[in-house]
Parts: sequence; C-alpha cells; structure tokens
Amino acid sequence: MAIKKYLTENIILPLSDLITGNSVYDSLQFLNQSQYWSRIDLDRYQNARLRNLINHAYTNVPFYHELFLDMGLKPEDIQSKNDLHKLPIVTKDMLKMNKVKNLSGKIAKKDLVYLSSSGSTGEPFQFYSTKEKESINKAAAIRAWYWMGYKLGDKYVKLSMNPRPSYIKKLQDYFNNSLYLSSNQLISEELQRIYKEILSYNPKFVRCYPVPLQFLSREIASISKTYRGNSLVAINTTGSTLQDSVRDEIEKVFGVKIYDSYSCEGGTIFAQCSCSKYYHPAEECAISEFIEDAVTLSDARRPRRHITTDLFNYASPFIRYDTQDYIVLGGEKRCDCGRPFINIEQIRGRDSDIIRTPSGKLLIVENFVAYFEWITEVDQIQVIQEEIDKVIIKLVVNVGFTKEIEKNIYTYWTNYIGNDVELIIELVEKLNLTPTGKLRTVIRNPKIRLND
Ligand SMILES: [Zn+2]
Repeated sequence: MAIKKYLTENIILPLSDLITGNSVYDSLQFLNQSQYWSRIDLDRYQNARLRNLINHAYTNVPFYHELFLDMGLKPEDIQSKNDLHKLPIVTKDMLKMNKVKNLSGKIAKKDLVYLSSSGSTGEPFQFYSTKEKESINKAAAIRAWYWMGYKLGDKYVKLSMNPRPSYIKKLQDYFNNSLYLSSNQLISEELQRIYKEILSYNPKFVRCYPVPLQFLSREIASISKTYRGNSLVAINTTGSTLQDSVRDEIEKVFGVKIYDSYSCEGGTIFAQCSCSKYYHPAEECAISEFIEDAVTLSDARRPRRHITTDLFNYASPFIRYDTQDYIVLGGEKRCDCGRPFINIEQIRGRDSDIIRTPSGKLLIVENFVAYFEWITEVDQIQVIQEEIDKVIIKLVVNVGFTKEIEKNIYTYWTNYIGNDVELIIELVEKLNLTPTGKLRTVIRNPKIRLND
C-alpha cells in the first residue's frame, strides 16, 4: 500500500497527464502557490486573463464577435473586471441556440473536450471545453480536497447514484485509492450493504450528494447510533444544496465535519475552508459577479445571483454567464486561512426534492439528470409527483425528438420507478418556473410524506 501511495503522489498524476494530454499536475503546482498570493496579485492575474479571453472571443468566436458589435464595443473597452458590466449577461438558452457560433475555430480538435452539464436546474446542456480548462478544474478540485486534510493517495469512498461508466475510471479509482459505490435505490437493504462496504474499506474521506448521505446516516443511526469506522477524517458533499439541518444530522452520525462544495458550468469550484464556515471560489479560474435582483430584495439574507466568466475555456467561452444560482456573501474580513479569496456564506443551487413511490423507493434529482444529460433531443425536464402513485415527466423537446425516443424514455422509467406507479410522459412547450424564475426539476406534492 505504501508503494501505491508513493506512486499516486509522485508518478501517477504526471503519468496520467502524459497519457491523456492533460496538465493536472502542473495546474495543481500552480494553484498551490497562487492560493497564497496577495489580493492585488490575484486581481492583476484575473484582469490579465480576462483581457486575453475577451480578445480571443472577439477575434475567434462568432457569437461573441456579434455580441460586441451589437453593443458597439471593442475588446479594449474591457480592461478589467470593473468593465464587465458593459457586456450583457449571457443565458443558457442563448448559448444553447448558438452552439456552433460559440465555438472557436482556433482550438485543435485533439484539445477539445465535449461536456454535458445539467447545471443547477437539471436542464441538459452540451458544450465544448478544452483539456487545459478541464485540467485546472480537476486541480482546483484536488486543492479543495487538500483544504479538508486530504493527501493524494488517501483512501476515499465515492458514493453515487450512477454506475461507474468506464474501465478507465475504474483503473483510476484503483490508483487513486478510492472505492466507487453506487446505488440507484435509497432503500434500507441497499443502504445497509453500502454501510458494510464502507466499514470494510475504512476510508479517510467520503464523497456523496447530500440526500443519499442523509438517508445513509439515518440507516446508520438506526443500526448503531453512530458511524463505526475509525479512520474517517471528513466528508465532502456536492451536487445539490446542503441544508443546515441536513448537515447537522449527517455530522452527528459520522462524527466528522462536512466540507461542502459547489460548481457550475462556466465557473469554478467553491469549496469550504477548514478555518471558517465560509466557501472560497478558486478565483484563478473564473471571475464571479454577484448581482442584486428581485430575489435579493425579497429575502432577509440578501442572496445574490451568481454570474460567472470562465477564464480558461477558450473553446466555448462563458463570459458573464447566468448560473441561475444564488449565493449569500460572507464577511469581507480576510479568512483566517490567509488566502485572498472572497468569503461565501451560503450556496443555494440545485433543488433537493425527492419522489417517494408506494413501495418506498426514493428518487432524487440526480437520478433524473444523470439519465437525461446526454439525450440531446430533450431541452428541459421536470418531474412532478402529485399523487403517490402517479408521476409525470414533462419534457420540452427539440426537432430531433421522435416517438421512438419517447418510447425508450417511457420504458426506461417505467422499469426504473416500478409498476406501482402510473408514469405519464408529457411533451410541453414550456415549463412553469418558480416565482423567482427558477426551474425546479423535481417537485413532490408535500402531502406525500417521506416517512410514513
Ligand atoms: Zn479560508
């Protein structure tokens, strides 16, 4: 095991970069240094990258070139972050409609990475990125793990709602010293199996979405009150909003701190610090703006809408992209960790509603978005449970959608949800938004109780 750990730290990361054409190792070295820059140096770095990005987008990306012309702007009008407000906010719909126009012809095919994201609203969205961008993203995620005490090679468990897709990932798991556990059902039997596997692996870290982890901790509480492993150092959650009450419940059972994290397309990771309750964004990778809107005024905590500019994606740039997520800013005083990053107190991202079937099967947002993410003929989804035995999947589809695809979706979800539920697929023109303009992916009628 010691040899494997040595390999992971010193050889595997550079070697895997060599094979894949990525630059995670170099990016990580950079981020480990830059996190202790002064705020002035960080601002200077962001502004220099921003000017480069703006020049590139104006010259090589038709979508942004036209946008600049429409606004009567030239690249030299954007000299720093303070000038960003001159540009319009770009929405997901705009980028989806201009997928071809928002692709730079200057990036070599071998450096392109095709991605799909469901974002905070579960709305499928495919776009291009680059190997450089994905490398620094990965490195920023590793750095965030360092903040919770992790060292490359430490044992961790990743608990997911989706099966491990490829052998390459499985091989990576082996060298990363990680165990991938998957379950698509949050039922007692499955949770007990997962708990046993975690105990026998005895990891230092666990990574999971908040909702499955909450159910796992309830199962553990019913078996042995608290988690019985003796190596656990911390838990990392991601994917949907972590409610304070859920955090408390999980921390009590596992006896360790949760480090929550958030990421979005066109942006960078926001990860919790060990020195405070705050999240810090990896500001070397993206510029975040937090703007006031109607929601800000309607809420005592004054949440701000998160607008992001990705400083590394030169394939399909995201400049002033509306994430549709809200955050609550933390205090302006520098965090005790000494890093120059801003403090974020709370993140309100993806909803975390749950569907419960008569047989007790529980389905969460991630179950649905993982399936629909790559179905390019579907633009938006919404799953509504009004009665315990009736689930409606509403779909906004595009021209490529066929009866055959609809049949496949119906068959898949009928098998998945079970025959104690009537499933209806409904094709709609548009979906209803919340009063704050947000699309909720999963909506359960509150009269259907989770625990009966
Ligand atoms: Zn800090």
